[in-house]
Amino acid sequence: MHPGMPVERPAAATGLATSPGQLLALIRSSPEGISRASLLELTGMARSTLYERLDALFAAGLAYEAEPLRSTGGRRARRIRFDDREKVLVAIDAGQTHAAVHLLTPGHTVLASAVFRWDASGPAGAAVDLFASAARELLAGRTPVGTGLGLPAPVEASGAAGLSRSILGHWDLPSVLARLEEALACPVVVENDARAMAVGEAGAADEGLVAVKVSTGIGCGIVVDGALVRGVHGAAGDIGHVRIPEAAGRTCRCGRAGCLAAAASGRALLAEPGLQHCRSLADLARAHDAGDPAVLAAVAEAGRLTGSVLAAVVATVNPARVALGGVVGLLDTFVQAVREEIGERVFADVLTGLEIGPSRASHPIPIGLSRLVMQALYAPARIDALLAQAARAAALPETGAS
Ligand SMILES: [Zn+2]
Repeated sequence: MHPGMPVERPAAATGLATSPGQLLALIRSSPEGISRASLLELTGMARSTLYERLDALFAAGLAYEAEPLRSTGGRRARRIRFDDREKVLVAIDAGQTHAAVHLLTPGHTVLASAVFRWDASGPAGAAVDLFASAARELLAGRTPVGTGLGLPAPVEASGAAGLSRSILGHWDLPSVLARLEEALACPVVVENDARAMAVGEAGAADEGLVAVKVSTGIGCGIVVDGALVRGVHGAAGDIGHVRIPEAAGRTCRCGRAGCLAAAASGRALLAEPGLQHCRSLADLARAHDAGDPAVLAAVAEAGRLTGSVLAAVVATVNPARVALGGVVGLLDTFVQAVREEIGERVFADVLTGLEIGPSRASHPIPIGLSRLVMQALYAPARIDALLAQAARAAALPETGAS
């Protein structure tokens, strides 16, 4: 399955007849809960219709009527809340050399995490088994409502393809998703990891945002006017494979030469002759923080090159913020170099109010995946279809007997 609107916004009052799914969206947009009177006022629905639809949501375990948190001495107005009790989600953040599996609440709080080494070039089946077993350990017997899978590769809006030219070119994505859905017994939503990061960073605000992940590879997620940009083939923001003169002759993981990633990614940094004392990106980050001059110079150059390509993205999108993440992207030398390079390259109007800095969210990718899963699972059309199906199933025995 694949989400529709990427960045969550509160449901607006419709003033019209409201479907059960739209009603649930309205309830979900009020974390404190909402009274029956407010729902009547907001939707303009007839009391009997509203109550009937609420009953359907209660029966499906989607909403419940809660006591007020504290009595104020007056009348205790009960509130209708989204039923997030006991519900958990799984977010799988698969990078090129490491993967992390997280358990989250429906409100996007990370409850537990497991990080492990993983090689994206290995077989897809083994990857699913590894992710599922790590998730099951965190779940400890619980069944998640949904799972988000973030991949370091282009992901098409259909969620069905787009991996052919990437590091995951040997994967058959539909069968990977089917296998993961079966293993975890829940729907799975897939998204490019840098795009998931953009959703995790953007939050509820309708801001323009460019999120850049620089770890082993380089990815970029773009939010314009509150909507995630995927592109025709799911490759929007794939800046790592833009050719730059400084990378001429250097071979890229994609099989070509001269890509930005061939000179500025974590993989490229670890391959540099002067940085052979760093065996992993964690080593590189430690050496950077200790002031290692060779590392500082190489990271600054990687930031400059990344900034030179990002400048065109920034000039196109005119975002409020560029958020840098990933092991390399978070290094202050890298952030500073990106900032200077963009500052030199783009027109002043694009720079006005532009903030370029490290990612703010502590877990932007799993939080973004969690948001995407919740949006897909609780999309009004999907809820309406599920409730209609439940109503038909309930009516069947009677029909059969007559
Ligand atoms: Zn490339």
